[in-house]
Amino acid sequence: MTSFREFSQACKIIEATPGSLEMTSQVAELLKRVSPEELPIVTHFVMGEVFPAWSSREVGVGAGILYAALARSSGLSVSDIEGLIRDTGDIGETAVKALAKKSKGQATFSSFLEEAPDISVHEVFERFQAISRSSGKGSQTSKIKNLQYLFNCATPEEVGYMARLAVEDLRIGVGEGIVRDAIALAFTVPVATVERAFMLTNDMGLVASTAREGGPEAVEGLGLQLNRPIRMMLAQIAPTIESAIAGIGEAAIEWKFDGARLQIHKDGDRVTLYSRKLEDISSSLPEIAASIGKYVHADSAILDGEAVAMDENGRPRAFQDLLRRLRRKYDVDSTAKEVPLSINIFDIMYLNGEGLIDVPLVKRRSLLESCVENGDSIQVDRQVITSDAEEINGIYTEALRAGHEGIMIKNPQSPYSPGKRGKNWLKKKPVMETLDLVVIGAEWGYGRRTNFMGSYALACHDPKTGRFLPVGKVATGFSDEQLSELTATFTDLIVVQSGTKIELKPQVIFEVAFEEIQRSTNYESGYALRFPRLVNVRDDKSLEDVETIDRLEEMYRLQRERGINPSTS
Ligand code: AMP
Repeated sequence: MTSFREFSQACKIIEATPGSLEMTSQVAELLKRVSPEELPIVTHFVMGEVFPAWSSREVGVGAGILYAALARSSGLSVSDIEGLIRDTGDIGETAVKALAKKSKGQATFSSFLEEAPDISVHEVFERFQAISRSSGKGSQTSKIKNLQYLFNCATPEEVGYMARLAVEDLRIGVGEGIVRDAIALAFTVPVATVERAFMLTNDMGLVASTAREGGPEAVEGLGLQLNRPIRMMLAQIAPTIESAIAGIGEAAIEWKFDGARLQIHKDGDRVTLYSRKLEDISSSLPEIAASIGKYVHADSAILDGEAVAMDENGRPRAFQDLLRRLRRKYDVDSTAKEVPLSINIFDIMYLNGEGLIDVPLVKRRSLLESCVENGDSIQVDRQVITSDAEEINGIYTEALRAGHEGIMIKNPQSPYSPGKRGKNWLKKKPVMETLDLVVIGAEWGYGRRTNFMGSYALACHDPKTGRFLPVGKVATGFSDEQLSELTATFTDLIVVQSGTKIELKPQVIFEVAFEEIQRSTNYESGYALRFPRLVNVRDDKSLEDVETIDRLEEMYRLQRERGINPSTS
């Protein structure tokens, strides 16, 4: 049995390890040391998650609950805790300091714990599960009590890691890449095999256990499972149609619909719809689920498509209208009447018990056409195979005229690569003038906006380090209604609050327009956006979609080469 104390000690060592290779071997050692039952838990914990990525469960602890639990466990007041947060800027350090300051006379569980058995990682996980399950009236109190129990069973140092885990942000520098390499190293499985298994199962804990029990062969055997979403295949930008054709040759051309990605799992009569972020959103989209049931003629299938909201003239409606439908829990039927959706299905990854991701696109396409009948609010749209740039240009113009975003240029021989943004799917749309950036911080407003978070700090992604690098702030383009909704959303994501400044868990993605990308020493990315404004809150996008630092660099370079600024071209 691994105690949470041992886990915390390992975290401390990993946190202080400078290079990623050494870090990987530390994580590998940890994974080898723990018992088989604990391995999935520790694998998730070490990368700062409590539940696997495919699961929509989350611990559900925000700053308010955490501060209250720390206050109760330490005997300090909530404002003392807030003061510590201001000083340390980190929830973990705050927890350590708060508990260390605990008044000596206070008889809590931990005062006599020196002798008592340690709490195990398993017990910590079970508490987090209980916290995640509590909902409705009284859930706040129950969450605080559960956290308090955990904090009282631990030394101040352990409390630091527990507090960070409670907000699913462990901050020891271990991300998916390091865990993937550590599993490979610990259980002698090729990195690519681990990577592929993760993309298919979305569960690093399961991959680790399988690697330990059955080695490479067993990990290779991990495959698609119905009702468990796989990562979506993603597209790269094609600078021009000609360059795309030069790379792919004869290509499969499809319209790029302006909508929201949906992964559809049909398991007999059961239909589950997953968003781009792999959340189960079936209950928000009953008409799509019904159409799948009626028009997809297969016992079981996993399909990929784009849900769109069309107006009475057959043109796509504003993206905000579509967003009103996604993840809606209340008034589903009335909103469905106001904003009916249809689905364009463009790929198939699984059919009647057989995984198809290694089958070339052309073959997948013919299987798709053989099992999906076009019907009310469901269609498999046209796909043209050609290498004729003029013909492709014609399709591109048609797509734009119809109000869609552009075209997809796909390699007909390519497999379906979950989670990959590779060269087999290219997207061509009018010169890019927006960026998808993740919100990492905010500031409380002033004057009329005192109760709202009014200005948001944005970041791009650095794939080399896995970190998010600040690129500036956006404070315009918001309606009052949007600000109030965003403030409510972000309140649950507060990691640290200090004065009017707030650090947020990176989760929400803003699509922002701007005049120009500039070099800047003010932000860690080395770039800043001139006149950024919010275009859309991209509820449908996930952290994988955040623009990379390489992309910003490339845009900056193109902007200079062309001597134009990308927002006006
Ligand atoms: P982007 O969101 O700009 O990265 O573009 C890729 C997205 O286009 C995909 O994630 C889909 O949501 C969407 N899309 C629309 N039509 C298609 C299509 N025919 N094939 C693939 N993706 C499509």
